Amino acid sequence: MPAIKPDKYIRVDHIEKELHYYEDDGSQSCDIGQMLIDFLYLDFTKYEKSRLEIISTLNHPHKFLSAIEDNRDKYKAMRTPDKVDSHKYPHEVIMRNLLGLNGDTSDQQVFVINWIYHQIENLKKVHPYFSIMDIGVLGATNYEDLLDMNFNLEELQTIFDDAFRFCLLREHDSILNGLDPIKKLYIYNQQNKSSAHFRQFSFEKYNINAKILYDPYTDSNAGRSKRTLAQWVDFVNDKDFTLMEHYYVHDIASLLYSEFFQMVKLNMQAGICQNCNKLFALKDLYYSKYCNRPIGDDKGRTCKSIGAVTKFKQTLDKDPVYNIYRRVYNRLHTRKRQNTITSETLAQLKEKITELRKDVKQGRITFEDYETQMEDM
Ligand SMILES: [Zn+2]
Repeated sequence: MPAIKPDKYIRVDHIEKELHYYEDDGSQSCDIGQMLIDFLYLDFTKYEKSRLEIISTLNHPHKFLSAIEDNRDKYKAMRTPDKVDSHKYPHEVIMRNLLGLNGDTSDQQVFVINWIYHQIENLKKVHPYFSIMDIGVLGATNYEDLLDMNFNLEELQTIFDDAFRFCLLREHDSILNGLDPIKKLYIYNQQNKSSAHFRQFSFEKYNINAKILYDPYTDSNAGRSKRTLAQWVDFVNDKDFTLMEHYYVHDIASLLYSEFFQMVKLNMQAGICQNCNKLFALKDLYYSKYCNRPIGDDKGRTCKSIGAVTKFKQTLDKDPVYNIYRRVYNRLHTRKRQNTITSETLAQLKEKITELRKDVKQGRITFEDYETQMEDM
């Protein structure tokens, strides 16, 4: 088991249902499920075109030889130190050190890794998984596996979208309605026994290191100080302890699987947003209709905020009695703010309009009377 690199792990907070991870610009956190779902909606069209082009080049000796020939010095810099001016190939020198490439690395391996390395540089800008994964193992992973398994990203989307919807989506009209994710996952695995796809992701593929944390990181010397048993009891007594799992993850599939697994473990489910129609993770078991994605306007509104506004407007349209009540209620409060009425008057008038609303609802006055009396307030 490799040592945990502090900049390349995910910490799981089971209580807040959050993941903490490190990117180039520092520590980040997000709700469990968010990165997984965001991954499912990435557009890999351009990426996939490029991947197929790489596979085609590998399969056509002439194409491949000319690709290698065109980049001879570059690939030399990736494998053999000192033979090529390192100032001219800074990226390649970084790759060589980072990925452990050497003179024995095959042309194919170097060709594929060069492509992947540059893809990751771009993908990092759109999704944190590509910053979190440890690319140090790329050099040792067979280039065919890299292209067909680890970096077949559209295929991974399909596999995880399918498993996600089966196991985690809360659907009221489904035969699975009411089953916990863990039971659904059991059925899913039973039904897909012949498929190598989903079941090939397992804990063997990533390392977990569980740690006990208290008041996160405040006292780094705590472990080293000498205390008697009684002093240790004293020490732990006033602190909050949490069991934290640290995942050290090599590839995207394992990142997807580890997050999926956390959702199952925590009995988290997902819904479909009634505004944008996309999946979103439900942090609690109560049902929510809208996700928190920004709708992309300049007011910074989200599906949730505009969803609530739309619903409120619909209520007003459907309920003219409430509509009028609401308008008068707001008007009274404005008068109070402008000090044209006192708090006592406000309270009396509010009581009056509530009475009028009850009267019209119960048929003691007509709607026209209600409207006239309310507008006179
Ligand atoms: Zn939405």
